[in-house]
Amino acid sequence: MVPEVFEHHLRFLKQNGYSVVPAIEFLKRTLPNPFSSVVLTFDDGCENFYTEAFPRLLRYGFTATVFIVTDWIGKKGYLSWQQLRELQNGGMTIGSHTCSHPHLPDLDPSQIRREIEVSKKNLEEGLHHPVSLFCYPFGGFNAPAIEFVRSAGYQLAFTTNRSLPNFPQAPFSIRRIRMGNTTHSIHLWAKCSGYYNLFRSPRPAH
Ligand SMILES: [Zn+2]
Repeated sequence: MVPEVFEHHLRFLKQNGYSVVPAIEFLKRTLPNPFSSVVLTFDDGCENFYTEAFPRLLRYGFTATVFIVTDWIGKKGYLSWQQLRELQNGGMTIGSHTCSHPHLPDLDPSQIRREIEVSKKNLEEGLHHPVSLFCYPFGGFNAPAIEFVRSAGYQLAFTTNRSLPNFPQAPFSIRRIRMGNTTHSIHLWAKCSGYYNLFRSPRPAH
């Protein structure tokens, strides 16, 4: 996404009174305004998150989660450990997007487990901070992947696939909506409304 379009999206959220909440807030089922609350996530840990998105998010007072592929840290075009620490200190959440970005359902269970567990451990050691969010590369997951995500100690996992039911019934297969350069205001409105279903409203605590 080009920076100008991203800026437009941030302005839209601000002007329309959306609350940008940390992803982990969705574990709390008592968000004050679930239909006007959004979670922003960014996959792959590209360096332009640091150079383009981070300063704009700070300017708007918004927070976001960045999902990192640990084998790519410090490679050309990707975030370095130092940048990750700065993002964390600046209020961003760092999550895992595996070690090597495979389509997990193509792997055998021991490889799936390694991608999920080792990436978490590497990030936690490098950032001295618990990592509780996971994102499936290409949105791909299966039953073993969900089970390894759960047993590794993650609290939420994100996909792009349609999965039913959605949050809070399925915290390890949360759907997301892709924002692109062609996503203009009317589409933004639809995408941010509960009807397009960025996230279903959390149910009241029972
Ligand atoms: Zn990815």
